[in-house]
Amino acid sequence: MSSSLAIPAAIPDSTRETQLFVRQHGIQKPPHQEQATDAKADGRYDSTHSAYFSIAPAWFSAGHAERISGFGGILLPQSMAVLKKPNLVSMTTINDDGSRYILHPADVSGKWNVARRWVGVLLIAIYIFLPWIPINGNPAVFLDVENRMFHLFGLTLVPQDLWVMFFAVSGLGFALFFGTSLLGRVWCGWTCPYTVFLDHVYRRIERWIDGDAPARRALTNAPWTVGKIFKRVLKHSLYGIVAAGIAHVFLSYFVSLDRLYGFMQNGPLEHATAFGIVLFLTLVLWFCFGYFREQFCIIMCPYGRLQSALTDDDTVNVGYDYNRGEPRGAKGKAEGDCIDCRRCVQVCPTGIDIRNGLQLECIGCTACIDACDDIMTKVDRPKGLIRYDSFNGFAGNKRRFLRPRIFAYTALALLGIGVLTLVASQKARPFNATISRNGGAGFYSDAESVRNIYKIRVFNKRNQTATITIRLGKGTPAGYELSGSEQTFSIPPLSEISRTCVVVAPIKSYTGISDITLDVHADPGDVTLEKTTRFLGPNPQSIH
Ligand code: SF4
Ligand code: SF4
Repeated sequence: MSSSLAIPAAIPDSTRETQLFVRQHGIQKPPHQEQATDAKADGRYDSTHSAYFSIAPAWFSAGHAERISGFGGILLPQSMAVLKKPNLVSMTTINDDGSRYILHPADVSGKWNVARRWVGVLLIAIYIFLPWIPINGNPAVFLDVENRMFHLFGLTLVPQDLWVMFFAVSGLGFALFFGTSLLGRVWCGWTCPYTVFLDHVYRRIERWIDGDAPARRALTNAPWTVGKIFKRVLKHSLYGIVAAGIAHVFLSYFVSLDRLYGFMQNGPLEHATAFGIVLFLTLVLWFCFGYFREQFCIIMCPYGRLQSALTDDDTVNVGYDYNRGEPRGAKGKAEGDCIDCRRCVQVCPTGIDIRNGLQLECIGCTACIDACDDIMTKVDRPKGLIRYDSFNGFAGNKRRFLRPRIFAYTALALLGIGVLTLVASQKARPFNATISRNGGAGFYSDAESVRNIYKIRVFNKRNQTATITIRLGKGTPAGYELSGSEQTFSIPPLSEISRTCVVVAPIKSYTGISDITLDVHADPGDVTLEKTTRFLGPNPQSIH
C-alpha cells in the first residue's frame, strides 16, 4: 500500500464538507452504513440530514487502518480513519468482521456531569468505609460466611433468619422496577457500581495519563515508542492497583477488615483461598475496566434487556427532541435546532447516536445532555434539545408520572420492604432464645409445690459479650417463682449457652395446667424476648 495519495492538510469539519470530500476521493459506504440506509428506508432510522460517515482525526477505527484504507483504493494514514456513524442495525463497537471498535468518548462538562460525579464519589466512599463503621460490635455490613452469620447495620441474621432475605430481595427488586419505570436507566447511569468505577475512576486515570479523546486516539494508533510503552505500563499498573483495592475491600465484607489485615501480614499461600479470590477479582476488574468497558453493559448485563418491559411512553429517559431538532443541519441552512455537530455522539461512552431514539445501549449517563447544552449555548439556542423527558413529553403530549404500573411497583416494593422491616424487627434480634421442656417427667409435685423444669438455649449473635437475665413474664399466674438456676449469666460473643431453669408453683397458687411466660432479657441493647410455654401439673382437685 502506498501513502502517496495526497490528503488535504485540513480535514473538513462539517458533515456536508466531509460528504463532499468523501465523494471526491471515491470512498465507498462501508457495509454497515448500507444497513443503516435500509433501516432508514423502513422508517427505523432517519439520517436525511447527515453524512453517511465523516473523516476527521477525531474518531477512527483503531487498529484497522489497513482495512479502512481499502475503501475506494484510498489510503488513510494511521492518524485518520472513517468516522463510524452509529445506526440502529449494527453495534458501533463491533466492526463488520467482528473485531472490536475501540471507543474514545470525548470529555464533557456540565451540570449533569458534576452531579453524577458527586453521586459517584459518595457511593465509592460508602463502599470503602462501610466495613470500617462498627455497629453492635460488628462492621456495618459483614457477611460472615465462615460463621454463617450476616450482620447488616446492627441486625444479625443466622441461616434460620435468611428467609427474610426473600422480602429484602423482592422489595429491592420492585423498588428497582419502580425507579426504572419512572426514570428509565437512572440506576445504570448514576449508581451502578460498574458505571461508577468506570466513569469516575478508570476513565479519570486514563484521561490523566493519555490526555483527551483526540490524544488518546492518536496514542492508540501511534507506533510503539518508549513514551507510549511508559504510558501504557503506568496506566495499566494504576488500573491493576485500583482493581486490587476494590477486590480487597470486597473481600473485607466477607472476612472483616481485621482478618483481612491479618491475611495481608502473612504470605499468600497461608491464606490461599482468600488470596485466590482477590487475585481472580483483581484480574476480572482489570480486564473489565481496562479493556471490556462498555461491552459489559451492551452485551452481558441483563438489566438493559428488561427496559422494554419496564418502561412505557411516560418513562423519563435521556432523549432527543426530534420535533425541535429536525430537520438538522448547519445554522442558517436548516430549520431544526440540531446543527448536526455530532458532539452528542462523540461523548457517548457506548458509541450510539441518541438522535436515533432510545436504544438498548444507552445507559442514561447524561453526557449527551451536557454536550448538546454546551453546543446550544454556543449557537445561542435554548438548552434541552437532548434532555430528560418521556416519549409523550418529546411528542408534545401530556406527561403522566403517576400511572398504573407505578402504583403496582410501589405497592409491591412497599410490601416487600415493609414485611422485611416488620419481620426483621421482631425476629432477627441480636440474640435468639428457645425454650424446651427438660427430659424426664413433665412435672414434679409434692405437698408444697408443683415444679416444671425447662431448658433455655440462648444464642448471642453479637460480637460482644451479652448479659442475659431470665425472669417470669406478665402472662404467668400470680405466686409462681423461678428458682434452681442462675437467672443472670453472661454469654461470650457469637456463642450459645444452655441453662436449666425450674418454675415453681406453690400448692396454694396452683390452679391447674396453664401458660406461663419467660422473659429473656439481653444487655447491651436492652432487648427482651417473651417466650410462652406450658406449665404442666396434676389435676388441682386431687391436691387441694
Ligand atoms: S450535540 Fe446537539 S446539536 Fe450537536 S448533533 Fe447532537 S443533538 Fe445535534
Ligand atoms: S446516548 Fe447519551 S445518555 Fe445514552 S449512553 Fe450515550 S451519552 Fe449516555
